[in-house]
Amino acid sequence: MVQRIVPRSFSTTSKSKPFQIFTSVSEIRQERSKACSVGLVPTMGALHDGHLALIRRAARENQQVYISIYVNPTQFGVNEDLSTYPKTWLADKHKISRLHAEFEKDDSMKGQITAVFMPSSADMYPTTPPTSELDGEGTFITVSPLSSRLEGASRPVFFRGVATVCMKLFNIMQPEKVYFGQKDIQQTLVIKKMVKDLHINTVVSVEDTIREHDGLAMSSRNIYLGERRRKLATALYNSFTAVQGAFVRGARRRSELYDTAMDHLTTMQRQQAALPPSRRARFEVDYISIAHPETLEELEEAGVSEGAILSGAIKMLPLEEPQEEEELGVGMDKGSVRLIDNVRLEVPHARAS
Ligand code: AMP
Repeated sequence: MVQRIVPRSFSTTSKSKPFQIFTSVSEIRQERSKACSVGLVPTMGALHDGHLALIRRAARENQQVYISIYVNPTQFGVNEDLSTYPKTWLADKHKISRLHAEFEKDDSMKGQITAVFMPSSADMYPTTPPTSELDGEGTFITVSPLSSRLEGASRPVFFRGVATVCMKLFNIMQPEKVYFGQKDIQQTLVIKKMVKDLHINTVVSVEDTIREHDGLAMSSRNIYLGERRRKLATALYNSFTAVQGAFVRGARRRSELYDTAMDHLTTMQRQQAALPPSRRARFEVDYISIAHPETLEELEEAGVSEGAILSGAIKMLPLEEPQEEEELGVGMDKGSVRLIDNVRLEVPHARAS
């Protein structure tokens, strides 16, 4: 349960007004009524540089930046990692304070972080307890058929939960602009469709994926990867760069592109399988998709003008024999970790022409 905190200022070293922390819907609404323009960055906390990039962009474009930190139960399936999802509030608060101080010195920033919203589930789901069951009761937003493709096929309640919680956050804070990451491409498309179809008065902005030095997309879940699984976790992105290379060289047919990704992934799996259990890491491929950039319908051919989205998910399996001397992740590499990523397939300059 999120710690209950009375709205209060969190003092920073800066001279400007510090940001305030709100845990109740009515209090953040009251605060919002005083603000002129608000850019909202919805997160589930465990903040990393990907989140910080969204917050920086929001501060370049809005006078007031609101950040929400809420691990939304309805987007986790019954067997998913809701209970173990990382909660790192003290580190998050520190990162937000540092950004606040950074923005104060940076003239390119139009605005400042003024509110962090950390609601309780009782406040967010006032009439029915949040459900993770597909046929559970409640008031939900469904965006179909987009929500049942790709991530939605593997996680049937996920986008219903995401769309519903975002709708709640947008209603509560009435942001002029909202910020999402390209890393979760399908989420951005679901939110854009919901905003359009339900005439929500906000603009959805999407920020590029922020990656580690070796290409792994930053994710709150990466902390569960110890050294051995972390090294292998780049397999998905590396398979994508192989496909991008093939695309630039002229490959367009789905089978060619798909096989390029799968060849890379199965080679990595075979290499690991040849090692003893004390030294290997394993993963399963959930899906590889080559889809239309807006509808995410699978394509037989990736067009030159509109390109395609290459996306996928792999599940890093628990280590079979963790060693005492090796660096293990949070949870000692005992649980599976699902990683997702995507890249655009496009010929340089094709979009501009
Ligand atoms: P989360 O806390 O995982 O729900 O993510 C909150 C927001 O941060 C979402 O819009 C994500 O798409 C975005 N995000 C997560 N990881 C990254 C990343 N590596 N680069 C850019 N945005 C990201």
